[in-house]
Amino acid sequence: MPGSPARPGGRREHRDAAPPLSHTRRSRMSITAAMPTAKERPRRTRTKRVSHLPAIRLSSLLPSHIDLHDPLKPSLVCRDCGTWVPITGMQSKTQKLVPHHTGRADVAAAIRCRSSNRRIEWDMTIPEWHQALTDAVKEAASRQATTVLPKAFSPATDQTLRARAQRTPAGRLADWNAVLPRVAATDAHRQVAPAGDSPALSRTVPLDKLKITH
Ligand SMILES: [Zn+2]
Repeated sequence: MPGSPARPGGRREHRDAAPPLSHTRRSRMSITAAMPTAKERPRRTRTKRVSHLPAIRLSSLLPSHIDLHDPLKPSLVCRDCGTWVPITGMQSKTQKLVPHHTGRADVAAAIRCRSSNRRIEWDMTIPEWHQALTDAVKEAASRQATTVLPKAFSPATDQTLRARAQRTPAGRLADWNAVLPRVAATDAHRQVAPAGDSPALSRTVPLDKLKITH
């Protein structure tokens, strides 16, 4: 492979050259016989191989599972194996996850992840991702606050509140006007004091002080 930096052991070439059928055979072998461990993930690959699985849409992932801080070295959390995997081909036509094993390098067994070489669909710009990440962080922060958030309204209550919010000033005035006669009647009733009823235990009032003098 001219131009590409030589890697010890030529791992990349070996892995990329493997036809899809042999991987089953290889992983079965890895369990029974040799037990090779997971290889370190390459940052970039040049293989033309593309996974038959549908492309991974960025918008379908959590913003915190995508890292576009360095647009030339992006990575994301593979949904199949749950680990960070570099995206290769940033300067070529197709971008995809680098081929990778499912577990930690040199620790886990060398089991090829099915999302190896899977294409990436850029349905999100870097600023959009940044915004989504910021929103998610804010949202998480608000969840950790000690303030108790009000319970969500039931659909019926929600509808009532919406209807109330949509009322016009004219409508509100008409409602008040409709209720005013009843308010006036209630007030009038309150002001009527039954004759002869006076509080039995109240103190006497100094009547002379209440006289208005000019
Ligand atoms: Zn994976």
